[in-house]
Amino acid sequence: MGKLNTIIEKLPSIRGRYTEGPELSRLTWFRVGGPAEVLYKPADLEDLSFFLKHKTKEIPALTIGVGSNLLIRDGGIPGVVVRLQGFNNIVVQGNEIEVGAGVLDRTLALVAQEEGLQNLEFLAGIPGTIGGALRMNAGCYGIEIKDILVSALAVDNQGKIHKLTPEDMGFSYRHCKIPQDWIFVGARFKAKSGDSQEIAARMEKLLTEREDAQPVKSRTGGSTFANPEGYKAWELIDKAGGRGLKIGGAQVSEKHCNFLINTGDATAEDLELLGETIRARVLENSGIDLRWEIVRMGFNKNYEVKAKAA
Ligand SMILES: Cc1cc2nc3c(=O)[nH]c(=O)nc-3n(C[C@H](O)[C@H](O)[C@H](O)COP(=O)(O)OP(=O)(O)OC[C@H]3O[C@@H](n4cnc5c(N)ncnc54)[C@H](O)[C@@H]3O)c2cc1C
Repeated sequence: MGKLNTIIEKLPSIRGRYTEGPELSRLTWFRVGGPAEVLYKPADLEDLSFFLKHKTKEIPALTIGVGSNLLIRDGGIPGVVVRLQGFNNIVVQGNEIEVGAGVLDRTLALVAQEEGLQNLEFLAGIPGTIGGALRMNAGCYGIEIKDILVSALAVDNQGKIHKLTPEDMGFSYRHCKIPQDWIFVGARFKAKSGDSQEIAARMEKLLTEREDAQPVKSRTGGSTFANPEGYKAWELIDKAGGRGLKIGGAQVSEKHCNFLINTGDATAEDLELLGETIRARVLENSGIDLRWEIVRMGFNKNYEVKAKAA
């Protein structure tokens, strides 16, 4: 594929790092998916902003966090995949915490606990980054990002930096309305003061509950479908006979049937086909059309972006 040898030449000279053709499967929880044409790790905010300002618009750029909500298709992702490395700052100021978008949700929860700040415990069990949490309005146990956000910082596709209020974010269930090609680089969250030990105990309880109910140690992408208003996706899937269903190496979790699992040798195609099969069964069984919560990216295997030979 000649294009592979030239794409980096067409990209702006940056201080961060470009890697041609890296396999993305190792960067996602499902451990499936083809390569990126180019992976870009910005050196810092200025570098990222420069890249976006000078990149030609014909070359697409998509951002990923730690891939805990992603199904990357087997053919890979054309153009540039941006992955924040660094962006790990955490500054505690009174009852507010400023944090880089590359920080893991769990790390933020632990820092808040150590500082005697409560309301961020829910983040302990969400295995993504702050960038992914902002994009997805991540949440659980009745609290989500929108409830704790003071402001978010994002870079648009022209490299311009925006400070966004919760209203600007237009949050809804597992969704925000900020354009898909804007990249979150940081956020400021509010908390309430509390007792460190009590916060730790609550966090522990939430984590135990989660481990009991979800296959958190498997190769999964978390909840596959958003809960439709007034329903639980897992119940609809269960009623439609989806629990344990298998296609190739992909399986609907026996433990929590809104989770898909790569049992070892699944392809992205197996997982997507299994998801679509479940959707069709639920539609037939209950008349409800489930919406994918997992974000699917890239081409299927017929289109193939080539991996760089190791
Ligand atoms: C075991 C398990 C349990 C989970 N439990 C929960 C849960 O309880 N609640 C919940 O809400 N989710 C849950 N998830 C899903 C997932 O962890 C969250 O959606 C998380 O917020 C995704 O973050 P990420 O960094 O992994 O993003 P990715 O999965 O890499 O990407 C997800 C989306 O965010 C975008 N994105 C990522 N980083 C940025 C950025 N810096 N700027 C702009 N866009 C960005 C991507 O383009 C993509 O659209 C779970 C997942 C797993 C595997």
